[in-house]
Amino acid sequence: MPGEFDIIERYFRRPAPHAALGIGDDCALLQPAPGQQWAVSTDMLVEGRHFFAGTDPRRLGHKALAVNLSDLAAMGAQPHSFLLALALPAPDAAWLQAFSSGLLELADAHGIELVGGDTTRGPLNLCLTVLGLVPGGLALRRDAARAGDEIWVSGTPGDARLALGHLRGEWELSPAALERVRARLEQPQPRVQLGNSLRGVAHAAIDVSDGLLGDLLHVLRASAVGARIDVDAVPAAPDLAQQPVARRRACQLAGGDDYELLFTAPAQHSEEVLRASAQAGVRVTRIGCIEAEPGLRLRDAQGRSMPMEFASFDHFLQP
Ligand SMILES: [Mg+2]
Repeated sequence: MPGEFDIIERYFRRPAPHAALGIGDDCALLQPAPGQQWAVSTDMLVEGRHFFAGTDPRRLGHKALAVNLSDLAAMGAQPHSFLLALALPAPDAAWLQAFSSGLLELADAHGIELVGGDTTRGPLNLCLTVLGLVPGGLALRRDAARAGDEIWVSGTPGDARLALGHLRGEWELSPAALERVRARLEQPQPRVQLGNSLRGVAHAAIDVSDGLLGDLLHVLRASAVGARIDVDAVPAAPDLAQQPVARRRACQLAGGDDYELLFTAPAQHSEEVLRASAQAGVRVTRIGCIEAEPGLRLRDAQGRSMPMEFASFDHFLQP
């Protein structure tokens, strides 16, 4: 049975050319370029809470890093390095091999290097800490939304929640539809390039991890503003568009796990927003605007106001 050091050595060790010193000493040593700030974030994935027991380990490796990269994307930061703390019930070689390839493939795609970590025996639990770099003062922050800003969202939010509903038995999807939306749930694509391209263009940004409206509320509170959202302007992928309207809206507005970017930008920057979107190859859609009056107002396609009935996912409210 491989020990703690063998696991890191065998499955996770890679050259880390951007670190002054990578894995192997008591600490890694990192050197930011002059004028850059570190953007640092940590996220924990617990079996049974954030993912189902028996989830494909390759997809799990991808997702564990993707959700952390998504936080860097939301700040407009360029991924630099990460640390991995892993609790495993048993050192299963096939599981480790698949998990590390899912993780390191995404790491290579974004040029982010593993510079340290820890492994221990215990219930399956993945905790990653990511570090990114952003030019001083240019990070996209939650407290930077201003009245008059347009509100934009990337991609098609709600797909991950559509998959989750099937897996929980809330509704049933065709096998082909399930396959498509399940990939969105289990292998989200962090919008790193889009976040980087939005620096100096967008005001505030957040990644949609817990639900579009709930995450928007974090921005509104931090910025001390309100917003109007045109509910039916939120784009839906074909599988979600075919659902009953109430389900579609609930998935789009309250579903989590999509890891799309929600951001605000002054109206005079809309051309630049579209350029950033084209640069990143990610669709963006205008879904509302920031208003001075506090609170969140929802409007349907006919301009009728709608009740604010979409509670966001909150881990501490769940049984
Ligand atoms: Mg986040």
